[in-house]
Amino acid sequence: MAADTRRSAAAPRYVYLFSELEEVQAGLGDDWDAVRALLGGKGANLADMVRLGAPVPPGFTVTTEACKAFLAAGEVFPPGLWEQVLTCLEAIEKSTGKRFGDPRAPLLLSCRSGAKFSMPGMMDTVLNLGLSDEVAAGMVASNADPRLVYDLYRRLIQMFGSVVLEIPDESFEKVIRELRESAGVASDAELGAEAWRQAVDRFKTIVHHFTGDEFPQSPREQLRLATAAVFASWNTRRAVDYRNAANIPHDLGTAVNIQAMVFGNADDDSATGVAMSRNPSTGEPGIEGDFLCNAQGEDVVAGMRQTRSLDELQQLMPEQYAQLVEIAKRLETHYRNMQDMEFTIERGRLWLLQTRDGKRTAQAEVRIAVDMAEEGLLTRQEAVCRVSPDRVDFFLHPQLDPRALEGRKPLGRGLNVSPGAAVGTIALDADTAERWAKDGRDVIMVRPETKPDDVHGMLAARGVVTERGGRTSHAALVARQFGKPAVVGVEALHVDLDQREITVGDLVLKEGDWISIDGTGGVVYEGRLETVVPDLENPQLRTLLSWADEFRRLGVRANADHPRDADRARRLGAEGIGLCRTEHMFFEPGRLEIVQRMILSKSRTERSEAIAELLPFQRSDFVGLFRSMSGLPVIIRLLDPPLHEFLPAYDELIQDLADLKVRLQHMHTMSEIDEALDQIRTKQDFLERVKALREANPMLGTRGVRLGILIPDLTRMQVRAILEAACECRREGVEVEPEIMIPLTSHVAELRDQQRTLESEARQVFEEQRMEIPCRFGTMIEIPRAALTADQLAECAEFFSFGTNDLTQTTFGISRDDAEAGFLMQYIKRGILPSNPFATIDRDGVGKLIEIAIGLGRSRRPDLVVGICGEHGGDPASIALCHELGLDYVSCSPYRVPIARLAAAHAALALHPGQ
Ligand code: PEP
Ligand code: MG
Repeated sequence: MAADTRRSAAAPRYVYLFSELEEVQAGLGDDWDAVRALLGGKGANLADMVRLGAPVPPGFTVTTEACKAFLAAGEVFPPGLWEQVLTCLEAIEKSTGKRFGDPRAPLLLSCRSGAKFSMPGMMDTVLNLGLSDEVAAGMVASNADPRLVYDLYRRLIQMFGSVVLEIPDESFEKVIRELRESAGVASDAELGAEAWRQAVDRFKTIVHHFTGDEFPQSPREQLRLATAAVFASWNTRRAVDYRNAANIPHDLGTAVNIQAMVFGNADDDSATGVAMSRNPSTGEPGIEGDFLCNAQGEDVVAGMRQTRSLDELQQLMPEQYAQLVEIAKRLETHYRNMQDMEFTIERGRLWLLQTRDGKRTAQAEVRIAVDMAEEGLLTRQEAVCRVSPDRVDFFLHPQLDPRALEGRKPLGRGLNVSPGAAVGTIALDADTAERWAKDGRDVIMVRPETKPDDVHGMLAARGVVTERGGRTSHAALVARQFGKPAVVGVEALHVDLDQREITVGDLVLKEGDWISIDGTGGVVYEGRLETVVPDLENPQLRTLLSWADEFRRLGVRANADHPRDADRARRLGAEGIGLCRTEHMFFEPGRLEIVQRMILSKSRTERSEAIAELLPFQRSDFVGLFRSMSGLPVIIRLLDPPLHEFLPAYDELIQDLADLKVRLQHMHTMSEIDEALDQIRTKQDFLERVKALREANPMLGTRGVRLGILIPDLTRMQVRAILEAACECRREGVEVEPEIMIPLTSHVAELRDQQRTLESEARQVFEEQRMEIPCRFGTMIEIPRAALTADQLAECAEFFSFGTNDLTQTTFGISRDDAEAGFLMQYIKRGILPSNPFATIDRDGVGKLIEIAIGLGRSRRPDLVVGICGEHGGDPASIALCHELGLDYVSCSPYRVPIARLAAAHAALALHPGQ
């Protein structure tokens, strides 16, 4: 049936019946994304379900364009909108045979928000619109169950009151509590018709008390106000917070879905619930969810009543359960994705109220993608693209250390709705959680249940615990979405907001006490337990990453300085080492003193002796790396940081010396005095050297290749250590591919100098060892001049590696050490820079330099190998740029290797979808 919208022909079309999907789609060039943008995800899918023949109560959608016009005009309906709503309303009245506001056969409506991207519970909804004193009396007179009628009516006043009239919900809840107490019952379900009739009266008084007006008796007025309130809820704080966290643009607006009500609370053959077509925590096949008998939908998601698992529905209402399973399958096949459905059973008849792609844990996301590809529902490419690289990170979520759990009794158990472990102090409301987290404290937010208003607290907290709520409760959804470990429905636990404490039996924990939670197992413990980071042995993840490897073109290496890290990187799929920062080896115990001696030495001989002492250490480090990376390339970078980094800080030395001198005056024994004088001498030596090495801008000073030029013995020692280690490994039968990299080059002459030193040392080593091992020579590109003269550098260098940490620093002229504590964050907040250039490569500036350098470098040396080893090497957006610019590989920290493998596949599939 098509709505007659001729009356508002001049106005744009703002309202569409669910049955008018074809028309909407045709008007938008069959672009489903545009349909979702216009009708919102919920509206588009409701219309789509109607098209698929699923049982959906009739209704219509007011578009996001209407919302935008409403907000732009200062919360006023655009001309023509209301007339179009009324026209569609008539159409629903016709199809249901009921009329809005008619006491004999009243149509009741729901009015729900629905943006393009799901924002569960963040915006408003009003149910049971259309009830008034007259309609309620009419329904009772025509034999409707008075208990149901007054329950619906009080729900309308309560929801309308809190959503539209902004009356605190607590005022209504207090009345219900009192009614329960005077009836001597524990649950709302046990209250009878008279109690709900009284509730209606008292709720109307509350409305009058708060607003000075009566509760509107005109159903149309109710609908108009509710629609406006849902539009306005786009800009509530919680909605804005959620969008900021979920990266949803603020200018999309929400649609409003107006739909005939069906009643899960009509009788005991009625129910309402939420079903996922697969398990949202683990991804296992089979529908999964919660329901309540004789209840309205909001009761399930609000988490106020303890829900029942869908397995029980199978026993209670086998036919409806089977139908639900069939529909879930049909929808899943249609959307080729796991579905999250809301359903209601009214007097034995099943209705679908919503379907959307289900939110899920990272584990479930991977498993579902792999399973669906294996079931033939997705191609392998699609499965790979389904999993966002960042989500792989969650496989590395800490877990509680099993040793810490030995013999420990849980505080309580609940549903394991979002995996990972979290440890923190109890905060009993969102504002406290946020405030404490800002002070740097680890916080676990513990609530009776969570409401959408709590989102900012959940985001700030390490984890979330609730006393009530099911797998699909608001807390569970939001926690999963943001990867916050969460345990909900911990019944043993009682939250006392007045006393600011939680009790479990006789045990009382105060707000601020420590607890630990295991979101993977659904367990809460008292105290501050140790956590461990697990390894990535998940079989589906391994499969997915192996598929990703088939599609990616970029190689993935790791930045690793220690055999332990190299081993891990290799297990995670690294194809070599892209950067070994040798200075990290200098900081190991037993070595720092030698390094300091080298720096403090007064003669060349003294220095050479110290350098020679370092040689065996370095050699054994490299042996470890080569063994671990057998058969794969290993890039070792020669010493890079300014030498003062190995000495105590200047200010510290001054302070220590002053202290020592004061203490000296109070010393009595000769041995004390001797020891103090000795310390003073040493510190004095340090201080002089530190003074001599002091530079105003050390990051732009004597570091990188400049050190190697000033102290050629250092280059020689490192080259010798690398090549002797390589020879030793080769003798053991380990395949070695050493590559030596010069940092912070800005002029080809620097490279030539180091190349000469390297070659002469290499010749000596190979003669001594009586073997020769091919070793590539390359440079980092970290300075704009290097990028701009890359053709000259490529005359010497066989490979380039972009050190984008320094390249970003030198391109922007922003100190990388100070940036994130200083103005840079302001820049990002104020939109002066689109994102942090130290996290994601600045495409226009740094990216341009990379492009130029690759072009120039390859023009001189076509087989030049080019990689990146700055932190950006593990950032998906930067990896996409690296793919685009034709780099050969990215190198990142070992734990980011799986993320980089997946991101590299995404980049390849985005640019060459047919691959
Ligand atoms: C870089 O500058 O990007 C780099 C990898 O080197 P470092 O971070 O050690 O300066
Ligand atoms: Mg650098």
